[in-house]
Amino acid sequence: MSTTLAALLARAQAAGVARLDAQLLAAHCLGRAREWVIAHDDVVPQARHADALEALLRRRAAGEPLAYLVGEREFHGLVLAVTRDVLVPRPETELLVDWALERLAAWQALPALPAAPTPAVVDLGTGSGAIALAVAHAAPWAWLTATDASDAALAVARHNAARLGLPLELLAGDWWQPLAGRRFALALANPPYVASGDPHLRALAHEPQCALTSGCDGVDALRQIVAEAPAHLLPGGWLLVEHGFDQGPAVRRLLGAAGFEAIETRPDLARLPRCTGGRRPG
Ligand code: GLN
Repeated sequence: MSTTLAALLARAQAAGVARLDAQLLAAHCLGRAREWVIAHDDVVPQARHADALEALLRRRAAGEPLAYLVGEREFHGLVLAVTRDVLVPRPETELLVDWALERLAAWQALPALPAAPTPAVVDLGTGSGAIALAVAHAAPWAWLTATDASDAALAVARHNAARLGLPLELLAGDWWQPLAGRRFALALANPPYVASGDPHLRALAHEPQCALTSGCDGVDALRQIVAEAPAHLLPGGWLLVEHGFDQGPAVRRLLGAAGFEAIETRPDLARLPRCTGGRRPG
């Protein structure tokens, strides 16, 4: 059978795969750029390439994220390896990184503060390492630490740090648990925040559920992270977290109850309230 690339891609589209995704999977299987695939869709791929591509297109049609099928995802200008052991980094999380970089720039502009010249930054539940590595890349003067309860996720983060040549201290454990006695200038987290009964979870079935859901209201992890944050932040240090579009008021209340000031919620690119942060009083 001599099926052209164009025919394979058309069949995938008919099965519901987006054209861009089909082209990217073809590029991945053939070891070519997407542009090459577009310009050469009259080519008849070798049987082994065609079989591999058809298998990936079927998995994509069944809802598996493209990032798992090609093994990587771009995040804040970095290409990160991702596996099924980690959440696929999302564009909305880039806003948390931007906010963190803003805080670090402000911190650096205050020569009287703090005692430590190198701001220590922690990313709780780092997964692929996306947030921590994006900050390490854009703010090389900061010292980055990241935790995760999953050893498999830590292995992915370690691989990404090595691949990108970025220094990152990785510790195994839940949220703050491996950080007893340590204080940071800035703490970041994109914890699981989807409510356990949320129908939206069905669309996320291929990703690790421990990275997505957290209790009936989805706020369990955020509750724990915020409650223990003051003990791990330097005076004047900041906590910035990502949360569900409807959890802004709850997270602001949690920060207020934990004594934070300058509490603010920021919207994502879809203008949905997505990140909330506050400062530990100085
Ligand atoms: N933003 C993800 C989603 O709902 C959830 C990520 C998370 O729980 N941290 O698609």
